[in-house]
Amino acid sequence: MTVLTRPRCASLAVLSSTLIRRPPPLVRSRPRTLTTSSVLRTTYRRSEDFTSGFSSSYDPSQDTGRGPMFSKATFGVPNFYPRDLKKRVDEYVVGQDRAKKTICSVIFNHYQNLRRRQHHEFQDQRLREKLQRQRFARDRDLHERQGYADVHPVEDEFPGHNESVRGIGLGSPEPVDEFYIPEDLTVPQHVKIDKSNLLLLGPTGVGKTYILETLSKKLNVPFTISDCNSFTQAGYIGQDVETCIERLLIEANYDTKATEHGIVVLDEFDKIARRETVNGRDVGGEGVQQALLKLVEGTKVTINVKDNRSSRPSSPLMGGGGGPAGNSTGQPGGPPPSGKVDQYTIDTTNILFVFCGAFVGLDKAVLKRVAKHSMGFGAELRRAAASSLQGSSDILPAEVYAHLPHQPPAVVRAPDSPTTKPSSGGFTPLDLTTPTDLQAFGFIPELIGRVHNICALTPLSLDELFRILTEPRNSLVAQYTALFETYPSRLSFTRRALRAIAERAAKNETGARGLKMEMERVLAEPMFDAPTPYVLITEGCVRGTEKAGYWGKDGGMEVERRVAEEDEGGKGRVVESSFEQFREAGLSGA
Ligand code: ADP
Repeated sequence: MTVLTRPRCASLAVLSSTLIRRPPPLVRSRPRTLTTSSVLRTTYRRSEDFTSGFSSSYDPSQDTGRGPMFSKATFGVPNFYPRDLKKRVDEYVVGQDRAKKTICSVIFNHYQNLRRRQHHEFQDQRLREKLQRQRFARDRDLHERQGYADVHPVEDEFPGHNESVRGIGLGSPEPVDEFYIPEDLTVPQHVKIDKSNLLLLGPTGVGKTYILETLSKKLNVPFTISDCNSFTQAGYIGQDVETCIERLLIEANYDTKATEHGIVVLDEFDKIARRETVNGRDVGGEGVQQALLKLVEGTKVTINVKDNRSSRPSSPLMGGGGGPAGNSTGQPGGPPPSGKVDQYTIDTTNILFVFCGAFVGLDKAVLKRVAKHSMGFGAELRRAAASSLQGSSDILPAEVYAHLPHQPPAVVRAPDSPTTKPSSGGFTPLDLTTPTDLQAFGFIPELIGRVHNICALTPLSLDELFRILTEPRNSLVAQYTALFETYPSRLSFTRRALRAIAERAAKNETGARGLKMEMERVLAEPMFDAPTPYVLITEGCVRGTEKAGYWGKDGGMEVERRVAEEDEGGKGRVVESSFEQFREAGLSGA
């Protein structure tokens, strides 16, 4: 009689349990009377009714992949959330709260998605290695078994055992089917989170690109800004849209993996709206939109780069996993310069696209539409829309914007507030932009359909322009003060002078850019007359009624006095007196 040895039994048992999963017996041969205890027992047993899709019990040992509420991310809590990002942006960008909130959330989600993918890639790699080992072990077992059967088919097995008989007949191991991988030997499919592209609308110089630039520095994700003005359809004079991906690749230090998760800002997006053409070919408008369509949707772009770059260190998120096809060194940053042409293939599926544009005239089109379709609000809304169209400061009633996210807290404005335009916390007609409006503006619906968030930035109010001069890190006053210190000169402004600068800039309608122009105008003479130890800019200087004040080394106290004199009751001092100034004044006897 054949006796099975212990290890042989064990391996067979493992095999039968992993490869041949038999369902539990469903039909009993003899009907049983149900007692209370047997009912209790059956509720704990997993009895599967294959038609209902339900199981009568919960088996904690069974891993369903989801917890009672949701599956927790295992790659750790993020170091920051959108509100933290916004705090960072607040240090640099004044106002535009709603836009900041939307942008921060979109970019944060992109970043989280990137982390999630990285984590899954790492986990899948480990799982793949584990499964590979399991498959090797399984194959080895099979071979061992068959080899054993070849040697002596009946010694260790009972007569008529299938594999032994087959083994004798064929004389060689059965070929393994490599084309089908059983379910338990494959890596599980993760939920794929799609990117959410963003469109930023708003007049020039209100912070559209500035917010994005500030965020990109915080995140250390490859980021590039491309101007749509230079794009033309492939084959025509101008740049192909793919150049934006090439720029991103350069930003990512030729790391293809990092590039595939970067952020591309397409500025002046409104300039590629469809135009009327004589010959019917719109190579800079609709042609570019068609080309962008593929890029935004996700395509593989091949980029040829002449290999004469210098290598730069890459960030932790820029994994260093890329490199050109056939990169022999495999180092992040690519091979050393050699002068040959390298080919990089970039998949744009996960690249986040942010479109920016002023969309001049779109607000009027939106107002017209709102006024036309205003059934509920009736005449009041139509009147408001009409007066807005005529350039009046009247704005649409708040109810029209009620559906929009990030509603500002109700602000009680002082009656004597000098603000003429709605504050940036408020809404503008551009906030009501719909894909239909953009289509009417000249965009193809396919491209607009791939923009998932539309966010409008408001024109900067006088208060905001004033704050931009002094408040943010890297403010204009800080910049010019630092520049004058290099002469060396100490530059001071009265508060009234700064307000006058903001007022003049507001009239330029160029947003915060107008502030720099005004500063250059006001400081043109002091810059030429440098070095003068103390320079004071008063309201009169800005309005052109007096010249900038110059003082010698001992003029610190005098500057202080003048500033206090001009600003109401000496309260709003811009220049803080320092210990050195008092010492200087003491020495000079002032
Ligand atoms: P656009 O909206 O046309 O993209 P930018 O974002 O490039 O304009 O802004 C131009 C410059 O104006 C920026 O470099 C920045 O210095 C300044 N600026 C614009 N908006 C703001 C703001 N809200 N807060 C602070 N600075 C701003």
